[in-house]
Amino acid sequence: MIQDSIIEDSQKYLMHTYARFPIALHKGRGARVWTVDGKRYLDFLAGIAVNCLGHCHPRVVVAIQKQAQRLLHVSNLYHIEPQARLAKLLVENSFANKAFFCNSGAEANEAAIKLARKHSKENFGQERFEIVAAHGSFHGRTMAALSATGQEQYRKGFGPMLQGFRFVPFNDIDALKDAVGPHTCAVILEPVQAEGGVKVPGGDYFRHVRELCNKKNVLLILDEVQTGIGRTGRLFAHEHYGIAPDIMTLAKGLGGGVAIGAMLATDTVAAAFTPGTHASTFGGNPLACAAAIATLETVLEDGLILSNAERMSAYLMDSLKGIADKFPRIVKDVRGLGLLAGIEIEGVEPPRIVRAAMDAGLLIGRAGENVIRFTPPLIVTEEEIDEMAGIMDGVLSALDMA
Ligand SMILES: *Cc1c(COP(=O)(O)O)cnc(C)c1O
Repeated sequence: MIQDSIIEDSQKYLMHTYARFPIALHKGRGARVWTVDGKRYLDFLAGIAVNCLGHCHPRVVVAIQKQAQRLLHVSNLYHIEPQARLAKLLVENSFANKAFFCNSGAEANEAAIKLARKHSKENFGQERFEIVAAHGSFHGRTMAALSATGQEQYRKGFGPMLQGFRFVPFNDIDALKDAVGPHTCAVILEPVQAEGGVKVPGGDYFRHVRELCNKKNVLLILDEVQTGIGRTGRLFAHEHYGIAPDIMTLAKGLGGGVAIGAMLATDTVAAAFTPGTHASTFGGNPLACAAAIATLETVLEDGLILSNAERMSAYLMDSLKGIADKFPRIVKDVRGLGLLAGIEIEGVEPPRIVRAAMDAGLLIGRAGENVIRFTPPLIVTEEEIDEMAGIMDGVLSALDMA
């Protein structure tokens, strides 16, 4: 009954921007969540790759509690200890020299686009402002992030888009070479296209992208909003490719469940952001930074979380391949990097699978047209992956016979 009234109010008072499933979630621990009615789910979506340490990780919870008692907000007119500490942690563990904090992935990309343009204009002239992005990309819902997003479905009805964006096929270095010209200031890419359908590029792609950007003096912006903070088994996904960007954006996993975004850059590039040029009222507030410090310190400590993510990603892949072998009529491909995994589906509408899995106690997501996405927390266990496989087996068996 409680659940029904929540759903009723939700439908009545919230804008209908989401096609929500008819359950109301109430509490979570690790890879489990419960509805207000007490029904338990195995959570292999993890808030769409946000809850990297699972739900309510004790270190994150305690850090939030302590910070909430001390200081919640003071504005960026003053120095904030947790913000400085978080920036130091990120810089010491990445290619970057400087950080800017905001509140979401879209905002981080917004900041990256602004920084790239300003840096380029100051160093190479006013006419150099174009950004090359990929078809099938996803960079967020604000106007600039949307203008960089290469999927018509998200842009429909919101035109005109911002000027100065050009699109090329993902994982096609020749197309990128053709697109980068005298007006290009940056290339923006996801290390793995997540929303676009869990698309992992070929082994050499990003090395060639980096070489091209170096040769043309063009900035490489990597959107690690979904792939960052251990999602792929490394702290940042670009480490797999042996390259570093000039600008990187983070959000989803960064706060362990608390809203925070970050844009990181090298000193040379960051120099274009001088006092007054960019800002965010809530960006890097003490509460969000305390949550992010606890998350990042936990992920980095002894490498235990990252090595678990790496081991579990191999186990998850094997498990999904087993499912693909058993249901060749439905599952056409298994792919992913680390704990960002997907299975490509044919002959069944993906939402039917997502819904059937939910009814059987498993939360999973959809990505792109025909892909089911699995993004369990980095602390996931073999037992939990086995449980997921058991549920998927039941769900696909029923659909295979139908
Ligand atoms: C989710 C996502 C975004 C947008 O993040 P928001 O916090 O929803 O604004 C941007 N880029 C990528 C790669 C994402 O996965």
